[in-house]
Amino acid sequence: MIQQMIPIARPMIGAEEQEAVMKVLTTGQLAQGEQTAAFETAFAEICQVKEAIAVSSGTAALHLALLAHGIGAGDEVITTPFSFAATANTIKLVGATPVFVDIEPDTCNIDPAAVEAAITPRTKAIMPVHLYGNPADLGHLVPLCQKHGLILIEDACQAHAAAVDGKPVGGFGTGCFSFYPTKNVTTGEGGVVTTNDPAVADQVRLWRSHGQRERYQHVALGYNYRMTDIQAAIGVVQLKKLERFTKQRIANAAILTERLAGHVRTPVVRPGHRHVYHQYTIQVDGDRDGFIQALRERGVGSAVHYPIPIHKQPYYQEQGFDMALPVSEAAARRVISLPVHPALSDDDLATVAREVIALCR
Ligand SMILES: *Cc1c(COP(=O)(O)O)cnc(C)c1O
Repeated sequence: MIQQMIPIARPMIGAEEQEAVMKVLTTGQLAQGEQTAAFETAFAEICQVKEAIAVSSGTAALHLALLAHGIGAGDEVITTPFSFAATANTIKLVGATPVFVDIEPDTCNIDPAAVEAAITPRTKAIMPVHLYGNPADLGHLVPLCQKHGLILIEDACQAHAAAVDGKPVGGFGTGCFSFYPTKNVTTGEGGVVTTNDPAVADQVRLWRSHGQRERYQHVALGYNYRMTDIQAAIGVVQLKKLERFTKQRIANAAILTERLAGHVRTPVVRPGHRHVYHQYTIQVDGDRDGFIQALRERGVGSAVHYPIPIHKQPYYQEQGFDMALPVSEAAARRVISLPVHPALSDDDLATVAREVIALCR
């Protein structure tokens, strides 16, 4: 009998999302409209921020956050090399320079001490990633930004409803979220910028839509980075389910950690941090490719986030980023993400834990 592979990710789309989309299709208002406004209001509430601006992707959110803060040529932005390439790419897109610093070996989040050591007179912003849904060390990064007059742009693309001491991420600085299908909630493609600063929100809205406050009055340059009401309608329903999905992910992670502790390096969460387990990522010694292959043969899907640190990517090598960041480079050889999503059954979780333990012997 061929067993079905337990997938690493699965979008949770149900009848309510289908109905919501059909409703939009029958109204004829397909582009940004009431559904997008409702989605923004709901997400601002979840993040406990004044403003949430919906855009076409997480990458667009990062790009617009940088533009809204006036970051460009001659500016340095300190960030992590251990992320999806979009984080650093958007810094390059606005003409600024990404300054990569190393990560903490346990959380794989940016190391605040390394950040502080990299601050120069050209530093304009710090862009941490809440990697895998685990908040970066905001307890140190926020005071660092205050002390040096720096902008904080949170790449929260994996961290919907993650929090530090009960305060949601995305509200500590300017927050950037993604609603890609593998994220904890989805709109198909989509993104949101969150902020408590009305001036930043205004700039994001201008850049989102051709520099217009009113139709055909262009007070600035801009892009078309709008979300459609079709996407937003899915998002409105998904946001109602976010807390339930998140609790399920946290519960699934707790089961995995309880079983895997002592066999592999399980995720590390700092006190007061709410990790929302976009990914449940372990670290293994030795032959990682063999480990992944064996897991696949045993019916367990997995993934590597990320196999190549950004500064080692061909484009960045061409651009002369030839520094050594040993903690990131070691993590890139060791990490494996296991299924943790809310669609897993108790049997699935038992299988994942059992097969990982078997391979650790
Ligand atoms: C998904 C992701 C992005 C990009 O989001 P898109 O919606 O795919 O453009 C950026 N940063 C991180 C850390 C991500 O996980």
